Amino acid sequence: MLDKEIRYLKGVGPARAERLGKLGIATVNDMLLHLPRDYLDRRNVTPIASLRPGGEATVVGTVSRSYDLRTRRGGKIFQVVLDDGTGTVTLTFFHARYLRRKLKKGVRLSASGKVESYRGLSMAHPDLYFLDASEDREYESGKLLPVYPLTAGISQGVMRKLVQTALSEAEGQVGEILPPSVIRDAGWQSRFDLLVSVHSPSQPGEGQRARDMLALEELYLYQQMLGRVRQKARSLDGTPLRSDPRAVGVFVESLPFELTGAQRRVIESVIEDVSRDVPMRRLLQGDVGSGKTVVAALACWICLRSGHQAAMLAPTEVLASQHRDSLGSFLEPLGVPCHLLTSSTPRGERKRIQGELYGEKPCLLIGTHAILEESVFVPELGLLVVDEQQKFGVAQRESLLEGRLPRPHMLVMTATPIPRTLSMTFYGDLDLSVIDEMPPGRGSVETRVMGRQSKRRIFRFLEKRLGRGGRAYLVYPLKEASEQEDLRDATSAYEVLRKGSLGRFGVGLLHGGMPGKSKVEVSEAFAAGDISLLVCTTVVEVGLDVPEATVMVVVNAERFGLSQLHQLRGRIGRGGRDAWCFLVTGSPPEGTAMERLMTLQSTNDGFEIARKDLELRGPGELLGTRQHGIPGFRVADLARDSQLVPRAKALAVEHQRWERLRGEFELRFGPIGPPGI
Ligand code: ADP
Ligand code: MG
Repeated sequence: MLDKEIRYLKGVGPARAERLGKLGIATVNDMLLHLPRDYLDRRNVTPIASLRPGGEATVVGTVSRSYDLRTRRGGKIFQVVLDDGTGTVTLTFFHARYLRRKLKKGVRLSASGKVESYRGLSMAHPDLYFLDASEDREYESGKLLPVYPLTAGISQGVMRKLVQTALSEAEGQVGEILPPSVIRDAGWQSRFDLLVSVHSPSQPGEGQRARDMLALEELYLYQQMLGRVRQKARSLDGTPLRSDPRAVGVFVESLPFELTGAQRRVIESVIEDVSRDVPMRRLLQGDVGSGKTVVAALACWICLRSGHQAAMLAPTEVLASQHRDSLGSFLEPLGVPCHLLTSSTPRGERKRIQGELYGEKPCLLIGTHAILEESVFVPELGLLVVDEQQKFGVAQRESLLEGRLPRPHMLVMTATPIPRTLSMTFYGDLDLSVIDEMPPGRGSVETRVMGRQSKRRIFRFLEKRLGRGGRAYLVYPLKEASEQEDLRDATSAYEVLRKGSLGRFGVGLLHGGMPGKSKVEVSEAFAAGDISLLVCTTVVEVGLDVPEATVMVVVNAERFGLSQLHQLRGRIGRGGRDAWCFLVTGSPPEGTAMERLMTLQSTNDGFEIARKDLELRGPGELLGTRQHGIPGFRVADLARDSQLVPRAKALAVEHQRWERLRGEFELRFGPIGPPGI
């Protein structure tokens, strides 16, 4: 019933159905979840004749006149006379030329604001609401009216009517989702009641509270789904790995540094996870530079020592090659063969590696996703490490291991620290480990936001640093909309610099469009010091580890997310030396851009930065998953509703336990009714 196609709802035909489709409304249920973006309080409309100066009021009328005025100081004022048949009031707007087109004679509107007495009654900058012809009558109804997001061809009045039709058709058909006690404690009788409140509240605030409950409900549903994924994965046979404490000791002693306390803690959980016959599913989060690689290396070591193979997946060739080097630096001295496999690996080499994988001695395979999925098979896979720079959704993550039995352990690494509530949603199917401590002895990174005009100063600075043997990145971040342009900018900057005075230090170019092989060559030349200035696009965000790099200049920084910029600057100051990051703005930054960039200047804490990013740009941008991966919530908004997530999760866990107990109970005593009664 609720999944009835919207075109069969009374009042909707094929034409309207198509328009509603643009709002994502395909079924009656979608219609019920098309929530108002606001409410208009129409209960207290005052006739203009009874307005008194000093108070707040709402009036409704028709524009009878509009004209421009100038103040004595030359400021521009736009005024409108509103008539409701009982009298007139003047609405005054300063610097609001955009309103002139809308506030024409004959337009019907409501205006709410403070009533003043200035040459007759007036209101300065009242809140306006334009009434379309369809609304006039309701408007007099003295209700709290919902205001819906609309699309061309569907008026506010029509939308209200359709939602009401959907509501009356749905009465008696709406099933419960949240536990009844939760709904009752919040003051409603049923889910249907909630829907009525959200679409036609009778008190101010009631609609918003009902909306919050529906958001909770949606997050709860999502948490249940995650719980099921988790449960299903746990029910599969795993690959218990025996971790010999002596082997762990050998690894730890071979390190050129002491592990941090945070690394030790995480390693303990990993060792415990992999020793069980339930497959591990762990997310390793840590700020850029916090030392996740060594944790992954140890996990691989344990796996290999217990006679199984291990594999690591990276999203790009450059990253895969970097991982090969960094994991190899820990594991090769201990006699572990590490193989790199990407799309540029020659066929002969590929064959040889496949042969090794079938051989006696377990080895570590590092590659890009496509490779593991398509061109080689890893027998006896005990552990899969996924470096998740481009985020996958739950389903994609699952598909990597689909069909493999026994199920290998999985360790997912992400370098974007994200607020806990967000990771509970996005990575809710995984257990979480956080490395919240930086290795000692790192240089600090000073960040400065600079205008374009400081270019000269920055170049002088570069010249000095490079002259002393330092290395630097000049980053042109790519953004879809202007990708071509950014790439052109990077390429032409490269040409200019190569021929200029910095040319003698060796200038290289690295961008995503280059063939994998040349990318690897350029990164190696930079690591070796043959190139000291690397002009690049955001490909460096992921993975380059060159301790000598101490300067980074980011061009047009305002176009990028805070977390992305934070990742970028994590590429410098990796050695002990102090490093400098210059965020150069392009055109004068608008809106929150400057505020965002200043956050980077004032803090180095990745979690703090992620919180700010979430607040200012929303989760899709933060996770880099605008196209895919992020759950498509209809009601909940992860930036706004994050405080609901822990509750949703607790309810889902509770529900799961109840379901289990209920099963046990019914086995002994026979069927019982729904929970919570
Ligand atoms: P990320 O978490 O960004 O992947 P890495 O694993 O690349 O960080 O580590 C950054 C650098 O810090 C590497 O050069 C690594 O060898 C070094 N490192 C890791 N752990 C420690 C430690 N406990 N003490 C000192 N240096 C460390
Ligand atoms: Mg890393």
